[in-house]
Amino acid sequence: MINYDAIVVGTGQSGPALARRLVAAGQKVAVVERKFFGGTCVNTGCTPTKALVASAYAAYLARRASDYGVTIGGPVEINMQAVKARKDAIVAPSRRGVERSLRNLEGCTVYDGHARFIADKKVAVNGSVLDADRIFINVGGRASVPPIPGLDQVSYFTNSSMMDVDFVPAHLVILGGSYIGLEFAQVYRRFGSDVTVIELAPRLIPREDEDVSHAVAGFLKEEGIDVRVDSKVVGVEKQGNSIAVKVQSAGKISQVVGTHVLVAIGRRPNTDDLGLDKAGIATDAHGYIQVDDQLRTNVPGIWAMGDCNGRGAFTHTSWNDFEIVAANLLDNDHRRVSDRITAYALYTDPPLGRAGMTEAEVRKTGRPALIATMAMEDVSRAYEKGETKGFMKILVDRDSKQILGASLLGLAGDEVIHCILDLMYARAPYTVMQRAMHIHPTVSEFIPTMMGDLKPLQ
Ligand SMILES: Cc1cc2nc3c(=O)[nH]c(=O)nc-3n(C[C@H](O)[C@H](O)[C@H](O)COP(=O)(O)OP(=O)(O)OC[C@H]3O[C@@H](n4cnc5c(N)ncnc54)[C@H](O)[C@@H]3O)c2cc1C
Repeated sequence: MINYDAIVVGTGQSGPALARRLVAAGQKVAVVERKFFGGTCVNTGCTPTKALVASAYAAYLARRASDYGVTIGGPVEINMQAVKARKDAIVAPSRRGVERSLRNLEGCTVYDGHARFIADKKVAVNGSVLDADRIFINVGGRASVPPIPGLDQVSYFTNSSMMDVDFVPAHLVILGGSYIGLEFAQVYRRFGSDVTVIELAPRLIPREDEDVSHAVAGFLKEEGIDVRVDSKVVGVEKQGNSIAVKVQSAGKISQVVGTHVLVAIGRRPNTDDLGLDKAGIATDAHGYIQVDDQLRTNVPGIWAMGDCNGRGAFTHTSWNDFEIVAANLLDNDHRRVSDRITAYALYTDPPLGRAGMTEAEVRKTGRPALIATMAMEDVSRAYEKGETKGFMKILVDRDSKQILGASLLGLAGDEVIHCILDLMYARAPYTVMQRAMHIHPTVSEFIPTMMGDLKPLQ
């Protein structure tokens, strides 16, 4: 048995940063990683997908070159091997950077292998037993693959195996029309694939407001993506070199025949093979580790951070988990999960930046609220750039004048959202923003303008 002050299981977005803080505080730390350092974000999530989004955007813009008075002397072609090589060249240094920083960290021992609890303060990895008073679980999640009849008889992609693709699939059928599925859909359409998206709900990204879903569906369809909503995948079958996806919609069964299938139906936590029962750590019905507002599990001395605790599903929520745990343990600063405001982006083009509540959520609260919307067509910068798809929407509490939420679907929506988010964290009334002088011509300059246009939410 090898004793440590702390064990960190998994090197996602919170584990490595916490290991560094603990070591800096003089603790002897063990870090266990079973696969790629940096976890999902670095290897199979944010970083590689945004690299692909950038390549796809370049192709899209090149095809539109004549709109800008630019002549390209021939057809725009995709070299998928070069696209993948670019993506890999972006991922590799990030992964190496996380690994190197931990291996070179004095006071930190890195174990390569799968960690499993064998008792509440004991973890086994590759035949060694590690023991510590404090254990931090940062094991993340993976694609959830539902038991669709026939799916196990065909080869299909998940977000992880998509990272090895160095060709343009002739027809990519994507099961799932939510955040991950839609990013891949637009990327591969822009690379030249035929793309069909099959979504069970009556609309894409059903957690968003209806107007947002419809606008996103609109520009994806405009690019030639076949969007099928209200459609349940009931079977998958190999047909020669193709794959037939059987879809039930409005009581009828039809089939979509493609060359490749991507399963993007949801995520599940990597907690099923962690021996949590040996440590008595409680999970919910979906396997997410139950934590309190400071990310403590039901077992004293064990914390769960990142996607595996079900309190967030993003890199920034996992990083924020690290900050909360470190603040409470090391800084006597009692930060809590409930202090954070919902914030995320969908990286389609144009992107969606989100903060706080949706309009539907505000309506559900029944509180008096104000709303302002603006079409991106009315934003001069968007017009100048020839990128006018989408709209912005902001909701404000009528009485406190504080912002309740915003959906910015349009050029730079993923960046502009931060001026709203920061005002929300400051708990400042929107009138503060109205007095701020923003820079022209930017998308952000219209946020104060929109505040002048707030009307009662009917
Ligand atoms: C396609 C895709 C795109 C995404 N895009 C974005 C985006 O643009 N923005 C954003 O904010 N979020 C995005 N996300 C989500 C984001 O990647 C995750 O929320 C983020 O990586 C946080 O993960 P984590 O810290 O919980 O752990 P992870 O990053 O999942 O890492 C967990 C680590 O633990 C290791 N591990 C697991 N079990 C064990 C074990 N028993 N023993 C040892 N090691 C173990 C794993 O190998 C892994 O390295 C995306 C996700 C996907 C799938």
